[in-house]
Amino acid sequence: MAVQPVLVWFKHDLRLADHEPLWHACQTGQPVVAAVVVDARLFETTALGFPRMGHIRTRFLFESIRSLAGELAARGGRLIIRYGDPATEIAGLVKSLGIASVYTAGEVAPEEVALLQRLRHVLNPLGAKLTTCHHHTLVRSEDLPWPVAQLPDVFTQFRKEVERACEVRAPLPVPATISFFNTEYPDHTLPAVPPAAEPASHPASVVTYGGGEPEARRRLHEYIWTCDALRTYKETRNGLLGANYSSKFSPALAVGTLSPRTIYHEVKRYEADRIANDSTYWLVFELLWRDYFQFVMQKFGSRVFHSRGLRPAPVVWRRDSVLFEQWRLGHTGVPFVDANMRELLHTGFMSNRGRQNVASYLTKDLHLDWRWGAAWFESQLIDYDVCSNWLNWAYVAGVGNDPREDRYFNIARQAERYDPQGAYVHAWLKN
Ligand SMILES: Cc1cc2nc3c(=O)[nH]c(=O)nc-3n(C[C@H](O)[C@H](O)[C@H](O)COP(=O)(O)OP(=O)(O)OC[C@H]3O[C@@H](n4cnc5c(N)ncnc54)[C@H](O)[C@@H]3O)c2cc1C
Repeated sequence: MAVQPVLVWFKHDLRLADHEPLWHACQTGQPVVAAVVVDARLFETTALGFPRMGHIRTRFLFESIRSLAGELAARGGRLIIRYGDPATEIAGLVKSLGIASVYTAGEVAPEEVALLQRLRHVLNPLGAKLTTCHHHTLVRSEDLPWPVAQLPDVFTQFRKEVERACEVRAPLPVPATISFFNTEYPDHTLPAVPPAAEPASHPASVVTYGGGEPEARRRLHEYIWTCDALRTYKETRNGLLGANYSSKFSPALAVGTLSPRTIYHEVKRYEADRIANDSTYWLVFELLWRDYFQFVMQKFGSRVFHSRGLRPAPVVWRRDSVLFEQWRLGHTGVPFVDANMRELLHTGFMSNRGRQNVASYLTKDLHLDWRWGAAWFESQLIDYDVCSNWLNWAYVAGVGNDPREDRYFNIARQAERYDPQGAYVHAWLKN
């Protein structure tokens, strides 16, 4: 058989386990080239004056990339790290190394889908094939009981049908042997990330692990087994302080150092070994929310990003940059909002309870454009995921696809209920 290397293009799936593109590439029997391209567009400044990807998020991403490079090196391989336009970079690699096939994850969001289309277009004349594989959800879209175009507009309907009709497939193991193609193809130096001015090690920081698959696995084991925190997840999940009120799996899911199927099967193992209760069910329930938003994005595409969201009629939003800056930097004068916004600013994370409150405050009290809030979250969140972020925002702003949904959070009442002693506000506003 003639040697024709195949390329695995890693994106937000920076892991070796349960990695379909890598798995299928290895099945070809051809030597594998592994590459990642950091998209230069992420470093652009938005119209709102902040970078599309802020430095805390960037640091977590780069840690995950470097960790993947280390994992591949430990197996005798190499991760080629490039920076720029991914379609150009991948095409450049294909041309120089005589690559026959590119394996990568499939996408659902418009920008990512457009990039794949562009790449396909440039690969065609080079005679190279682009294969996209499943990677991001618990349930595969082809296993759903409806075509994605007919996805229900209400989550509960989606969940009940999926629970009834779908099985979560077993995660794939790391390929036992990966035969690598040796190449001296140069790496790019990644943009410098400023040292953490306010380290993620802030005393009230709740995400206790760094980028990379081993760290994500460590967290999975710690949360489920060592701390036994899954047992009480349903009761603690609305918390605000500490590592274990919720799983904190979202940063690992966002960069793909952990797959949702891996989490699911670990939950099943825990249920068989220790206890199956409302809490173990609820973690999977939340992962189904995540799936749902991936499919909603696939169904509606770029409509998600309109000011009216998925609503038929236009919605008028205020555009007051002074109010927005106060919200963004945690200076609204409403302590519960400000504490949450400062946690986000300093650590790149905020609890789900916090997110719902600050999003409601921006859209329902200040009446500011929900997309401004979503753009700031995009810049800051280490767990930023295009579908989960933009669709949760649309949902709280009342412009999502669920016709029954119009949520308002009374901030004072929420603070009283979820931070009765003011410990959370104190932790973030004390100085
Ligand atoms: C305005 C707003 C923006 C958000 N932006 C994001 C985002 O960019 N990325 C992101 O992963 N989540 C986002 N969420 C959802 C949710 O807040 C986070 O997933 C959760 O807080 C992450 O913490 P955890 O991993 O400890 O969650 P846990 O409570 O332990 O839940 C386990 C997993 O379930 C999934 N999940 C839980 N709640 C949701 C939800 N509402 N929507 C989708 N998935 C969910 C996540 O993958 C999470 O890791 C957003 C929510 C709101 C209200």
